[in-house]
Amino acid sequence: MQYADAHADTFFRITLEDLDPLMRDGGLHVNVPRMRDVGQLLQVCSVFTPKRYSGKPAEDFARRIISTLDSWAERYPDAFRRVRTREDLAGLGDGPTGLIPWLEGASPVRGEIGLVDEFFRLGVRGIGLVHNHANEVADGCGVPDPRTGLSEFGRQLIARMEHLGMAVDCAHLPQPAFDDVMNCVTRPPCISHVGVRRYVDIVRNADDAMLRAIGERGGFVGIDFYPEHLLKDALEPGHEPATVEHIADHLQHAVNVCGEDHVGLGGDFDGFNDACADLRHVGDLPNLERALHRRGVSEQVIGKIFSGNLLRYLGEVLPAGK
Ligand SMILES: [Zn+2]
Repeated sequence: MQYADAHADTFFRITLEDLDPLMRDGGLHVNVPRMRDVGQLLQVCSVFTPKRYSGKPAEDFARRIISTLDSWAERYPDAFRRVRTREDLAGLGDGPTGLIPWLEGASPVRGEIGLVDEFFRLGVRGIGLVHNHANEVADGCGVPDPRTGLSEFGRQLIARMEHLGMAVDCAHLPQPAFDDVMNCVTRPPCISHVGVRRYVDIVRNADDAMLRAIGERGGFVGIDFYPEHLLKDALEPGHEPATVEHIADHLQHAVNVCGEDHVGLGGDFDGFNDACADLRHVGDLPNLERALHRRGVSEQVIGKIFSGNLLRYLGEVLPAGK
């Protein structure tokens, strides 16, 4: 198996809880021994900024997570390698897992376009425009009755990101801001971690029109492993648990709507406590692979879902050059 994942909060947790990614059972869903078990090529690393931070404290908090990631990558070059360019992507697969820091919510940019360049310099290669709360770009999907859509700053931000070679990530983005982004992007956009509304009809999940919009623009949709996005009320006491079968449902629906070249995994590991019953950590991914096999999904499409599509997408978005 080769695995590439579009969203995990692992370095956020390492920063806050001082956890050790070299330990197999040290409390992290994603850790080096289990990454090796499943041949993990790449992990996109969420630089998540909680709602309590805005302005300069948000910028500082993001810098803290990125420097935690940098220091692990520098100390353990056999385990991790930083991915900044298309050429770096092409070199994956012969040992260390590639890491790409990626803002989850644009609040660290705090409305200053020059800071996009600064985060790019620090190696950030994608920005999730919002989280659940409001910021300078738009209201997140947790805001009841979200305001008008994308701000003027949001438009400037997207233009600058596309110029530099950063992925525009629409996870957590409600309508009408999502539609505004689709109307202003000139490069392929993504939704790094999401479920589909066909199975769980919540604002946080993507409806068919959103999936289609991403596919039509050559983008990428990563299906996440968060039980509440996969199965309604999955975490209610006594409820049937979410499993890899539910993830397979979401994956197959997304493939049907936006095409087999545009769907992959953005597990959101280390972003939640209660994982799916048979996908407790990254080492359990062969269970998902088997579920897709049982459904008759071809080896070729499984390969695209597990790594090929995300690598193809980033290969188009990331800057060229060493
Ligand atoms: Zn998220």
